[in-house]
Amino acid sequence: MNFKFNTKLKQEIPVVIDFFEKALYSNKIFHAYLLTGKNHEIKENFCLEIAKILNCKSQEKPCNQCQNCNWINQASHPEVPISLTVEADSKEIKVKQIETLLKKLSNKSLFYRIIIMNPADEEFLSKQSANILLKTIEEPHERTIFFFLAEDYDSVLATIKSRCQIINFPEFKDLTINSFAIENNFGEITNNYFKVSEFVKNLKISNLDFLKNLYNFCLNKFIESHNPFWLNKLEKIEIAQNRIIALCNEKYVIEELLFNF
Ligand SMILES: [Zn+2]
Repeated sequence: MNFKFNTKLKQEIPVVIDFFEKALYSNKIFHAYLLTGKNHEIKENFCLEIAKILNCKSQEKPCNQCQNCNWINQASHPEVPISLTVEADSKEIKVKQIETLLKKLSNKSLFYRIIIMNPADEEFLSKQSANILLKTIEEPHERTIFFFLAEDYDSVLATIKSRCQIINFPEFKDLTINSFAIENNFGEITNNYFKVSEFVKNLKISNLDFLKNLYNFCLNKFIESHNPFWLNKLEKIEIAQNRIIALCNEKYVIEELLFNF
């Protein structure tokens, strides 16, 4: 069995994907996750990707060709995912919605069930609703995963947090280098130390963070293309990272990296 996450997600949230890949391969998927961070679209897309992977019938998952993959892609799957959100006539997720969900979960299913609770901040998922859910999160039905989506860790009820694995989705600034590098042509940023230093200063990130992002960018390029050109870049970035960790002059290390890139 093989897991092949969507390339765009891999570029947007490399650390999260890496974490889940390991969990999938070692068969250690947890039954409740709290996904925090401001980018709702990425969090939703990620949940759908997991829904496809766990329900896909092919060896390489998700295949985007089998019936389950197709249904989920077209948002027409009869059971996956189960999405709970605030309805138009209410300010929060209603107790009745939770009760309906629990009833549904008590029936057996042919599918791996993915429940997406969005938004799960206390403002929208009240204590009363959460309390009805707690037992189910604690003793889950088999082949069921809860995803609670929230903007901030702090805005989620402690009773929910304590029952979930917390996954933070990176903020915008962490994503910027990847999109910057793509938009401005890779060479633009990497042939000029002045541009990099300006960039790093604007984003208020460290040189090491810059290298980490650059590394992920090249790693994704390599995964996409299998071109050894990118492997060579990865090696060079690793050397630069190690030299910065060893407290070499950062400006000098990055200048040299860019010169030889
Ligand atoms: Zn499939």
